[in-house]
Amino acid sequence: MPAHLHRLLLPLALVAGVALTALKGAGTSPTSPSPKPAVAVLSDWPAIDAETLRHFQALVRLDTSPPVNEAAAVDYLKAALDAEGIETKVFALDPRRPNLVARLRGNGARRPLLIMAHTDVVKVDPSKWKHPPFSATLEDGYIYGRGTIDDKDNVTVALMSLLLLKRSQLPLERDVVVLFEAGEETDTRVGIRYMVENHAAELDAEFCIAEGGSIVRTEGRIQYGSVQLTEKIPNRVRLVATGVAGHGSVPLRTNAVVYLANAITKISEWQTPMRLNDITRTFFERLATVSPPEDAARYRALLQGDETGAVQEYLAVNKPQLNSILRTSISPTMLTAGVGSVNVIPSEASVVLDIRALPDEQVPQFMEQLAKVIDNPAIKIERIGAENIRPGAPPSSRFNDAFKAIESAIRREYGVITLPTMSTGATDMAFIRAMGIPCYGVGPIIDFEDARKGYGAHSDQERISEEALYKFMRFKLDVVTELAVAKAAPAPAAAP
Ligand SMILES: [Zn+2]
Repeated sequence: MPAHLHRLLLPLALVAGVALTALKGAGTSPTSPSPKPAVAVLSDWPAIDAETLRHFQALVRLDTSPPVNEAAAVDYLKAALDAEGIETKVFALDPRRPNLVARLRGNGARRPLLIMAHTDVVKVDPSKWKHPPFSATLEDGYIYGRGTIDDKDNVTVALMSLLLLKRSQLPLERDVVVLFEAGEETDTRVGIRYMVENHAAELDAEFCIAEGGSIVRTEGRIQYGSVQLTEKIPNRVRLVATGVAGHGSVPLRTNAVVYLANAITKISEWQTPMRLNDITRTFFERLATVSPPEDAARYRALLQGDETGAVQEYLAVNKPQLNSILRTSISPTMLTAGVGSVNVIPSEASVVLDIRALPDEQVPQFMEQLAKVIDNPAIKIERIGAENIRPGAPPSSRFNDAFKAIESAIRREYGVITLPTMSTGATDMAFIRAMGIPCYGVGPIIDFEDARKGYGAHSDQERISEEALYKFMRFKLDVVTELAVAKAAPAPAAAP
C-alpha cells in the first residue's frame, strides 16, 4: 500500500473502530472477529491487478478504430459501473458515437475532480501486426493491441478507480467524475466539443486529469515523470500559388510549381523565434538535472538564450521533439499540382502547412510574418480546417493541489522527479482548459526504445508492459484518493 494510503486509511479505520492488524492485511485479530473493512479493497493488490488486466483486455478487444463505433466500449463500461450502482449518463450527438459520464458523489465540500479518457483508437493495418490488433494478447510481459497506450490504459484505470472507491465506502469530499469521450482521434464534434458545448455542467470540476504524460524509461531506468500542463495549438493553412499555364516544352519563370517550391524552401529555412514559457523553462531546468552532462549543458545554454543558435541547431537535427517545443513550428505536409499530364505547366499549385503555435502565439501577426518570408504576391495564404481547431488557453498551474498530488504520487510510486511538459500535439484537454479548469496529462511507463521499435502510440503496432499497467493503476488510485477522499478528523484525545 502506498505510504499515503496508510496515512489516509488509518485514522478512518480507527474512527470505525477497526483493529490496525486487519488493515495491514493480517486478517482479523482475535479481539476483532468482524470481517475485513471495506477499505481493504484498496490494498488488495493481487485482486486489483487481476481485475485491471481483465477489464483492460476486454476493452482492447472491442474494435473502436475508424470508422469508429465507440458504442461497444460505452456499453461495456456502463454495464460494469451499473452493476455496482455507480451513476452513469450517456450523451450522444451520433448514437454510434456516444460519450459516457460516470459520477461518484462526494459531500460537496470541494468542486469535483474530472477524469477523462477516450474510447476511440486510431486505424490499424492488420498486416503489420504480429498479434491481431484487437486480440490483447499477453506475451512475455507485454499486452499487444491498438489502444494499449492510447488510451485504453487511461480508460481502464479510470473505470477501476471508480469501482474501487465505491467498494471502499470511503467518504469523498468531492464528486469524482469520469468522462469517457468519443472522437478524440478523429472528430471532436461528436466528443469533447459536443460535451463542452451542450453538457458543460456535467464536466464542471476544480481539476481535470487525462492522457498526455508518461513515465519516461530509458534502457530500463526510469528517468522522470512527464505531466502535460499545456499544449501547442494546431493551425492549418494552404498556400496557393497561381502562375501562367503553358506547354511543358517551354519553361516559364511564372510556373506555379516553381513559385511554390521556392516558397517551401524559404519556409523551411525560416527559423521562427525561440520563446520559452514557464512550463518549458521548468521542463528544461529539471531535464538538465536528470540528463547526461553534455545534454545538461545544452539545456542550460538554452535557458541562457542560446545566442549562437548552436543548441537549437543541434536539437533540430538530433532531438526534433525538443526543438518543436521552443517555437511555433511549420511542417509542409500535402502537395497538390499538375493536371495529370506531364507536358502541361499547371496554373495552380498548393501546399498544406501544419503549423503548431506556442500557446501565447499572436497568430494574425505570425501569418503576416509568414507572408513576408514567402514574399511573393502570386502566393495566397488561406486558413483551413477551422472546424477542427482546438481552442487556446493558458497553461495549467503547477502550484495547486492537483499538481502537488501528481508530483508526490510519481515520487512515491516511481521514485523520480516530475517534469511539467508542453505537448506538441493537441489533446481534448484544450477544451477543458478553455473552460478555466486546470488539466494534467498523465500516463504509464513508456520505454524510450519501444517507440523506435514501432510499438508507440499510433505506430504500426502498440503494446504496454503488464508491469506498466499495474503501476499506472497504483499511481492513479494514489492521486484520486489524495484529491477526493475526505481527510478524517483527528482521533479524539483519550479520556483522562
Ligand atoms: Zn490519445
